[in-house]
Amino acid sequence: MRYLNIHTHFPTGHLAVLEVENLYFGQAPSGKSPFLSAGLHPWFLKPENMDAALAWLEKQAALPGVVAIGEAGLDKVCDTSWGLQEQAFRWCIDISERVKKPLVIHCVRAHNEVVRLKKELKPAQPWIFHGFNKNTDMAAMLLHEGCYLSFGASILRENNHSAEALQHTPAGHFFLETDDMQDIAIEQIYQKAAEIKGISVEELAETLEANMARCFAPHPLS
Ligand SMILES: [Zn+2]
Repeated sequence: MRYLNIHTHFPTGHLAVLEVENLYFGQAPSGKSPFLSAGLHPWFLKPENMDAALAWLEKQAALPGVVAIGEAGLDKVCDTSWGLQEQAFRWCIDISERVKKPLVIHCVRAHNEVVRLKKELKPAQPWIFHGFNKNTDMAAMLLHEGCYLSFGASILRENNHSAEALQHTPAGHFFLETDDMQDIAIEQIYQKAAEIKGISVEELAETLEANMARCFAPHPLS
């Protein structure tokens, strides 16, 4: 079986793991994984280099190794102006649709705003909320809109509400990730997620392979 880490900033290069390494604007890949996601993160937007950021993303998005667009999204707890965030996010959505690659979403306290954009733009590409650490109600709201949820280290914490959210998330609608946690292995997240779902790690791996095949259908990862 193979592990799938849908979003990491620190790929391990382990052969048993298919890792999607995330790149911020201008960042070079580590070379440890052939699969990348590239996006405009709301934290790092600057009015003076928006044109350069868009040009960079257009170039990245066309590369076969870039399998997803993101992380991109909206964040109410950062200093970047809302206008700039929304502009960059709309660009990322548009590119995701044009290149037919899923969108990996960074969202902090802006879930309603992201859903409003989804209803307005009706994207055909899957939207994956990465680092989902909210409760079951929020999960249900996003699942109802057809979004995917990606769970990470928060499910390892005792009594964390995201573990309960994972328990209630249908098998066909989630992924797992390590994000920026360098000292946590995707294997640990799988172990815990399997326990939460009451299935074997092998069964979980099969589920996530199927989810990946569906989400990345226009450009299959192999
Ligand atoms: Zn991240």
